[in-house]
Amino acid sequence: MARAYNFSAGPAVLPAAVLRQAQESLLEWRDSGLSVMEMSHRGKEFSALANQAEEDLRELLGVPQSHRILFLQGGATGQFAAIPMNLLRARARADYVNTGNWSKKAIAEATKYCTVSVVATGGNDDPMSIPAQSDWRLDPDAAYLHYTPNETISGVEFHWVPRVGEVPLVADMSSTLLSRPIDVARFGLIYAGAQKNIGPAGLTVVIVREELIGKAAAATPAVWDYGRQSEADSMLNTPPTYAWYIAGLVFQWLKDQGGLEAIARVNKRKADNLYAAIDGSEFYRNPVHPTCRSWMNVPFVLAEPTLDERFLADAKAAGLLGLKGHRSVGGMRASLYNAMPEAGVDTLIAFMSDFEKRWG
Ligand SMILES: *Cc1c(COP(=O)(O)O)cnc(C)c1O
Repeated sequence: MARAYNFSAGPAVLPAAVLRQAQESLLEWRDSGLSVMEMSHRGKEFSALANQAEEDLRELLGVPQSHRILFLQGGATGQFAAIPMNLLRARARADYVNTGNWSKKAIAEATKYCTVSVVATGGNDDPMSIPAQSDWRLDPDAAYLHYTPNETISGVEFHWVPRVGEVPLVADMSSTLLSRPIDVARFGLIYAGAQKNIGPAGLTVVIVREELIGKAAAATPAVWDYGRQSEADSMLNTPPTYAWYIAGLVFQWLKDQGGLEAIARVNKRKADNLYAAIDGSEFYRNPVHPTCRSWMNVPFVLAEPTLDERFLADAKAAGLLGLKGHRSVGGMRASLYNAMPEAGVDTLIAFMSDFEKRWG
């Protein structure tokens, strides 16, 4: 069977070129006599791979020397707890913006560690939107402000960066990191589970300003302590070596594509085309205000929800997978991460138009 177009929100599509490289090196990486999976994480081969991946990520994102990059485990969900454990620094309160499901999960976890002040709530209206920052109530004594730049489930995305003065800005970029250039210097901490736009599941990338490191609460488990992990170059214990290696191949692939400005142009075009097709139809609808529609995750509903199952079955037969919306919202969702080729989006749009002609 030919490779399908995979629109899953995560674990998600990887570049075919990367999978082919992985296949070629599966039994033996270069002349090492070993698969990367079988190598010691302390050996010189893996160290070189790990360092190269970090360097490439630093170059792609323009991560300044003021920030460390950590390669951890536990997913974004692990970071929901690690962030308050490391960043509260004896303060009692943190600010959170609630724009949807992932914000809510981050808030629920943080509530175990501190008083959470929800400074703004969005994503409940129709069309869904993000409250303007002029309406937020920021706490100048908050240890940090946390927000979710891209809500993967509802497809609500910030196309601007909040201004927080001296308060460290913390961002769950799980489903948007590497989709476009960002100014890392504006953030105290950025984190992302790899399985959306970076690589395979099992790896979590954390980019954190050096001065915030080393101040974890005393009871913080060592693997969650940014200071301990930073001193150990993310190898306090065995890291997810193979996922790290594949992420490194993805970083090289991104550089080959021309870097983040080039991929951002492609991503914007893919999203614009799909939203235009949805808006131009009588049959499909996207529930998000045009000012905050996600480039990465495009949810849409059919005018007739009883056709959902048929839509998914026909899509699958046409080689279009992973389109079922999140169980909490229903409908459809097309995730358009970096590795989704433009031809995949074009094929989806043509399929949707054809389906509407047959059933609309
Ligand atoms: C997928 C996702 C998560 C959860 O990631 P895990 O790695 O499964 O813990 C958290 N936040 C956002 C925005 C996500 O897209």
